[in-house]
Amino acid sequence: MQIITLGNELLRQKAKKIEKIDGDITALSQEMFEILERDKGIGLAGPQIGIMKRIFVVHVKDDDLRVFINPSILETSHDTVKFEEGCLSIPGIYTNVIRSESIKIQAWNIKGRSFTLEASGLLARVILHEYDHLEGKLFLDYLPENKRVKLMEKYEKSCKKENK
Ligand code: ZN
Repeated sequence: MQIITLGNELLRQKAKKIEKIDGDITALSQEMFEILERDKGIGLAGPQIGIMKRIFVVHVKDDDLRVFINPSILETSHDTVKFEEGCLSIPGIYTNVIRSESIKIQAWNIKGRSFTLEASGLLARVILHEYDHLEGKLFLDYLPENKRVKLMEKYEKSCKKENK
């Protein structure tokens, strides 16, 4: 399975609820962790591999492998932090993004059990970033227009180089 990159319309579409958490979903999450490890990422959402389902996986260093199915963000803190972000779907582009410092999320795991999780720091950031993918949103959307345009130009140049 390949990661789709910026320009692909699927990254801008809303993912659909998973109706049944079964063996196929377990297999999908395992595959997603393999891709994550291969591409040295810390989070991957269904739409990034063209699977328009509400699932994402997260693996922050020294933390467990985490699967979130049909997630809802319950709370986001007023306190925010600025931190550098990248995205496997926008290779080579890194920039500071302001997000809530801590969050509370509810989701289902691969056993079909509901859970809630309070997270802060990098884990909270990755969760918010991946959740956005399910909504068709990208981290570039948080940037001021002029900065976004500059980064897009940089990205398009790097794409052209790769295609030569
Ligand atoms: Zn991303």
